[in-house]
Amino acid sequence: MINIDFNQQAKQYEWFNTETGSLLTAPCGPTNKASLFQTAVAMTYPTLWQTATRWIAAEPYLERTIWKGVELVANNGVETFSDDGPLAATPDRFGGRLLARVQSSDAFGRYSVTNSDGYIVCECQHYQDGGAPLDQYGQKTCKHIAAYRLSQRIESRF
Ligand SMILES: [Zn+2]
Repeated sequence: MINIDFNQQAKQYEWFNTETGSLLTAPCGPTNKASLFQTAVAMTYPTLWQTATRWIAAEPYLERTIWKGVELVANNGVETFSDDGPLAATPDRFGGRLLARVQSSDAFGRYSVTNSDGYIVCECQHYQDGGAPLDQYGQKTCKHIAAYRLSQRIESRF
């Protein structure tokens, strides 16, 4: 879990590293907040950070989506299901196999990420509207799918 707080008095972003007991700060501005978050990820979840930065290097146009996915993974927002598990065999409302349930950032709850004949589908608005970017293989990639794929890449190392 990574919480970046805004300190109204000091007008700065703050992240308290519970492992080292040190406070990291960044001046206001969305870019500074993002880089403080990335630093926090690198210190707290080095494997996640490495997986994300490697993916961004390969597909830089997905950078924003990938970092949003990192946020979901860091905040334990992803529940994955194995390919041969009982839930994976249950078709969802789109007829696909369930791969993961990913926490939404609105009040929706959890979005199902499913495999529909090899194509990964998410039920969020960004995906369904067609606004989510395509990856190099033509796979539409919203932040929930990015979060699922980051989780997969991390798991496959062990
Ligand atoms: Zn989605």
